[in-house]
Amino acid sequence: GKGGGTRVITLMPGDGIGPEISMAVLQVLEAAKVPLIFEPVDVTPVMDKHGRQTVPKEVIDSMNRTKVGLKGPLMTPVGTGFRSLNLTLRQLFNLYANVRPCRNLPGVETVYGDVDIVTIRENTEGEYSGIEHTLVNGVVQSIKLITRNASLRVAEYAFQFALEMKRKKVTAVGEENAMRMSDGLFLRCVKEMSEKYKKKLDAAGIVFEFSTMTTVCLNIVQDPKRYDVLVLPNLYGDIISDTCAGLIGGLGLTPSGNIGTEGAIFESVHGTAPDIAGKDLANPTALLLSTCMLLHYVGMPDQAEKIKESILTTLTEGSVRTKDLGGNAKCSEYTQALIKNLK
Ligand code: NAD
Repeated sequence: GKGGGTRVITLMPGDGIGPEISMAVLQVLEAAKVPLIFEPVDVTPVMDKHGRQTVPKEVIDSMNRTKVGLKGPLMTPVGTGFRSLNLTLRQLFNLYANVRPCRNLPGVETVYGDVDIVTIRENTEGEYSGIEHTLVNGVVQSIKLITRNASLRVAEYAFQFALEMKRKKVTAVGEENAMRMSDGLFLRCVKEMSEKYKKKLDAAGIVFEFSTMTTVCLNIVQDPKRYDVLVLPNLYGDIISDTCAGLIGGLGLTPSGNIGTEGAIFESVHGTAPDIAGKDLANPTALLLSTCMLLHYVGMPDQAEKIKESILTTLTEGSVRTKDLGGNAKCSEYTQALIKNLK
């Protein structure tokens, strides 16, 4: 339940550095006395009775029980015909919104200085619907699917997020002039939802605006400060969310949430980092910030802020940093510093 009480969370430690950074997160949460209980499950690919690849039953059962998961990176085998397990999880639990806060952290040098942008990306359709076919030899067609339902629900999530997180602006992005029907529908749905939330948005001083993808691309590299929350269809959102991760200094620091109709899965944006796996060198910050998003989601914002503060303090002091941030601390040493800096 929300607020007090203890909450059970499905933990998918993942591959490569996944188990190390998951352990670091668990240690910080325990030291912070966060009332979460983790149910660890192993996400290895298995075949269902139709011979299709899926995730083990215990993962599905656990997620159906807890509704909320924390996930480390999963290795995607190359060239074996295996579908990405991340995609499988997204489809199984109908995770329709991908949320990626990109905020630069103190002491991490970036080109742009202050950046604080949250991209909210439609996660289930658009150009990534996977509907492609050959018309005749040498001519293929790919279908960009946009539905009213999916557009409305991602829009609603964006406005709720902006209100809860006390943001100042929501920008809906699409190319309505070039793709009148598809992007047109998406943008009309966001507009419709903005009208439903108008009173609340006005009361909170949150501005709503439209922009085109081309304008956002130009502006975001000239002056990222002009954006706050962006809500976008799938492909545009994928591109802009990676652009934003670049603006704040890369993958080691970027958290994300996949929000569904029934629950959510939170994970770092980076992969399994096979080059440093098992060496106690990984930076657990992205997974820890993902955990902070999870804490907000389950109604424990104070716990989230407490952990975020310890990350900010540790990075500002700067003496204990992992290698990817120019330091020489081990993952375990950095974790101890985070624990020491908990207030
Ligand atoms: P990667 O993100 O694993 O690594 C890229 C570089 O960043 C490496 O040099 C790595 O050492 C470094 N890095 C990444 N995370 C770090 C961290 N927390 N601390 C310190 N350094 C870090 O990307 P990749 O090498 O392209 O992918 C490796 C595997 O991960 C592939 O199998 C890929 O499919 C998978 N992957 C999974 C996810 C996911 O589960 N969501 C996302 C991306 C990639």
